[in-house]
Amino acid sequence: SSFKSMGLDNDLVENMKNKLGVEKPTNIQSKAIPVLMSSINKNSEFDVIVQSETGSGKTLIYLLPILHRLINITIDIQNNGLLSRSIGTLAIILTPTRELAIQVVSVLECLTNIPPSKLTSRRHLNHWIVIGNVIGGKKKQSEKARLRKGINILVCTPGRLLDHLQNTKSFLVKNLCWLILDEADRLLELGFEETLQSIVKILDEKTTNSETKKQLFSSSKFWPKRRQTILCSATLKDDVKRLAGYTLFNPIFIGG
Ligand code: AMP
Repeated sequence: SSFKSMGLDNDLVENMKNKLGVEKPTNIQSKAIPVLMSSINKNSEFDVIVQSETGSGKTLIYLLPILHRLINITIDIQNNGLLSRSIGTLAIILTPTRELAIQVVSVLECLTNIPPSKLTSRRHLNHWIVIGNVIGGKKKQSEKARLRKGINILVCTPGRLLDHLQNTKSFLVKNLCWLILDEADRLLELGFEETLQSIVKILDEKTTNSETKKQLFSSSKFWPKRRQTILCSATLKDDVKRLAGYTLFNPIFIGG
C-alpha cells in the first residue's frame, strides 16, 4: 500500500517525501494508519494501542491521521476565526524525554509547512495550526506565555505538563481531542506512572463537551466525536497494560 491510498492529504504526503525522505509505509504504518483514518466517517472514535519496536515509524502513525484531520478542520472552520487562540490545545503528545519531544516538534513543523493554496487566507498552514513543546528547564514563564496564546499541538514531558495543568490558568484543554502516550514503556521505566495518573485525571475533569465545542464540532466532520487516546509502546509488560487499563477505553490493538 501507499500513503496516498490511505486517503492522506496530498500536501502531507508530499512533505513526507520531500522533507523527511519517507515514501513507502513501513509494515506497522500500513496496518495502523488505515485503522486511525477509518474513524473519520464513523460516529465513534476508538482508542488504540500500537505495539512496535523503536525505529519502526510510530511517530508518523499517530501524527499523520491527526494532521490530516486538523488540515481539513482548518479548511472547514477558517472563516470562523483564528484556530489557535480560541480553541486552545487539541492534541497532547507525551514523550519520555525532552530530546524526543524536540524531535517530534521538528517532524510536525516539516509536515505542516503547507502553502495556502487550499486555504482562504494567504498564510501557510503552520500559521493556523500552532505547534509547540513544554519540556521543563528554566523557561517556565515563556511556556506560560505560549500556552496563553494557544498551542494547538502540544508535545511535552509528563512532569512539566502536570505542572502547567495545575498552575497555568490560561492553559485551555477543554477542547482536547487527542492524547498520545509515546514510548509508554519508557515513560513508566522513568517513573512517571503517578504523574501520568494525575494528568489523565485532570484531563478527564477538564475536557468537556462545552457549547463552544459542540458549535465548532458541528462545522466539520473531521472533528473526533470524543477524545481519542493512542498508546505506543515497544513492549507490553504488566505496567504498560495497567496504564492502558486506566487511560484507554476499549482499545484496538495493532501489533507488528
Ligand atoms: P520512529 O519509529 O517514529 O521514531 O521513526 C524512526 C525513523 O524512521 C525516523 O527517522 C523516521 O523519519 C523514519 N521513518 C518513519 N517512517 C518511515 C518510512 N515509511 N520509510 C522510511 N523511513 C521512515
